[in-house]
Amino acid sequence: MLEIKNIHKSFGQNEILKGVDLTIAKGDVVVILGPSGSGKTTLLRCINFLEKADQGHANFGDTEVNLHTATKKQIHAIRQKTAFVFQNYNLFNNKTALENVTEGLIIGRKVPKVEAIEIGKKALDKVGLSEKYDAYPSQLSGGQQQRVGIARAVALNPDIILFDEPTSALDPELVGEVLTVMKNIAKEGTTMLVVTHEMSFAKDVANRVVFMDGGVIVEEGPPKEIFSNPKEDRTKQFLKRVL
Ligand code: ATP
Repeated sequence: MLEIKNIHKSFGQNEILKGVDLTIAKGDVVVILGPSGSGKTTLLRCINFLEKADQGHANFGDTEVNLHTATKKQIHAIRQKTAFVFQNYNLFNNKTALENVTEGLIIGRKVPKVEAIEIGKKALDKVGLSEKYDAYPSQLSGGQQQRVGIARAVALNPDIILFDEPTSALDPELVGEVLTVMKNIAKEGTTMLVVTHEMSFAKDVANRVVFMDGGVIVEEGPPKEIFSNPKEDRTKQFLKRVL
């Protein structure tokens, strides 16, 4: 479904991604773990062209693109197949929850407004916000705002949702509600690539865990294997620190 080959990315002299390959099948929930600065977020952003990779290819089903030289048309095509959930929600503060969810459908996907509203309401219902269609982000908790961010992604019905540390900005007591929503959409068969520090999510929900360090994938496998029987020293050391 999604195959990424040999992504390289530097910021100035700093080489952040040093040749990353990753294959994701339909219905996979892949969690990327790794120490701070290992390149997890950069990898996600390169896949969705929020950053331009220096080198690399991506194969999204039938669409193959060079991540460095992709044309606007190709970028548009890939963005139609993906949705991104940001660490800091990235909501429009002057729009209601429902408007935040329908905006991408109406503007990006050219869905008629009446239909977009219907889809948007269903997406907000799914994340437990049926009472909050008309609330502005400032009237919502961080957890609720992130659930709007997830509803916005779900409403687009993408082939894959990319989650960039979706709970990192939240107060600890609000993390659970967001993870529950993520767990529910995973259960529905949504293909997800998730950068997170939430080990419980990786253990309970992922079918594959990818451990990154120093801009490369050090090790990957089913969560059971990675958590109980890591093979690489770097993985062992990381898990010792975080578990
Ligand atoms: P964390 O878990 O702390 O979010 P990460 O593994 O997601 O870490 P990245 O956010 O991908 O790591 O960042 C990797 C490195 O790239 C960091 O040293 C960061 O400072 C650097 N970096 C990221 N974005 C930029 C940018 N736009 N300009 C310069 N350096 C950047």
